[in-house]
Amino acid sequence: MNIDTVMNHLNTFNNYGYDEETGGINRIAFRHAERLAALKFSMLCQEAGLEVHFDYFGNVIARRKGKDNTLPPVMLGSHIDTVKDGGRYDGLLGVVGALQVIQHLNEHQIATDHPIEIVAFTCEESARFNKSTLGSKYITGNLSAEDMKKLTDDRGKTLFHLVDTLKQSMPSENDFYHKGDLKAYLELHIEQGPILQNKHKDIGIVTHIAAPHRYKLKLTGETSHSGSTPMPMRKDALTAASEIALQVESIAQSHHQEGIVATVGYVQPFPNMMNAIPGEVKMLIDVRGKEAESREQVASEIEQAIKTITERRNIEADLEDLGADTPVSLNPQIANITEEVCEELDYSYRFMFSGAGHDAMNMALICPASMIFIPCKDGVSHSPKESVEVSEIEKGIQTLIGTTIELAKKDVTV
Ligand SMILES: [Zn+2]
Repeated sequence: MNIDTVMNHLNTFNNYGYDEETGGINRIAFRHAERLAALKFSMLCQEAGLEVHFDYFGNVIARRKGKDNTLPPVMLGSHIDTVKDGGRYDGLLGVVGALQVIQHLNEHQIATDHPIEIVAFTCEESARFNKSTLGSKYITGNLSAEDMKKLTDDRGKTLFHLVDTLKQSMPSENDFYHKGDLKAYLELHIEQGPILQNKHKDIGIVTHIAAPHRYKLKLTGETSHSGSTPMPMRKDALTAASEIALQVESIAQSHHQEGIVATVGYVQPFPNMMNAIPGEVKMLIDVRGKEAESREQVASEIEQAIKTITERRNIEADLEDLGADTPVSLNPQIANITEEVCEELDYSYRFMFSGAGHDAMNMALICPASMIFIPCKDGVSHSPKESVEVSEIEKGIQTLIGTTIELAKKDVTV
């Protein structure tokens, strides 16, 4: 592989949407910089001799022929969009990495049995429409025109309006991938967490992708004067909220071994004044786990704790269930192939689950899917501070190359 080409590509793409003041990358889905990056990717694919097209949604998909083009392709890729003031590697690494796999195969004139497709998904981040992984939802048939009409950005534009105006190709049945259409999907990504760095591992082989169950909670007590209301006569919604937040933490703590995390990330007290007892609090609770069963166990413990705390404190609780996604298991055979590749290359690795969502979780619904993680500095992502060592990128892409070559063999079944 050629690490200089990879670093050049990363730099080129990160010129699109670079903010000089913050140092962040702003390739927000369907805005100018992000579409330019998609176009640039399509040109690089063309240069590499691939058949490339945009689908109606604006995903870029390129194909390298196999020895037997009736076999289902192995698909590699990730997303090209970022959050506001995002980092230089989230998503982009997997896109540039996929392109490097093709360039490696071309350079060494390696013909694979299965065709290989590489993809740059758009709109993976929820930054614009409060919903994530939309490009991969689209190609797997889980995002209809009706769904797109219901999603609006903060300027009131619907996703459907944007997609249909851009019309990067005509809507087509051919855009969709069904079960059996792909041999496998493989995504290289930065970890976006601190585990690989802390454990001094080069590569993370992802076995599960955790999914959230979310709640909105409104607590109603009684707003009154902070000076003239004696302690025993108060109905303080904020102290109740505080106790709930601590309880959420401690319940999640006790299930930490099962891969559970839970967060109260948003609290809004009312009237939020120095001299008033807060009579109302709105809060958002996010519970995640890699297995639905243990996560739901925790969710019900949290529901129970809310009930107990608010009853004791005589506070009214209105708990709204915002819905739960299903955690996804990735393919163990591909994980084993990646493990062997790491062994051969003498890279250290660990099996792990992903706390964050990725396009791979949609792809896993239609084909065997897997993910390869590399460490990122202090686990920081979605920030201009996102940082990765060149040697880590190199190891990540080498692992991607090795796994792809194996997967694209006719006699390797997953
Ligand atoms: Zn990402």
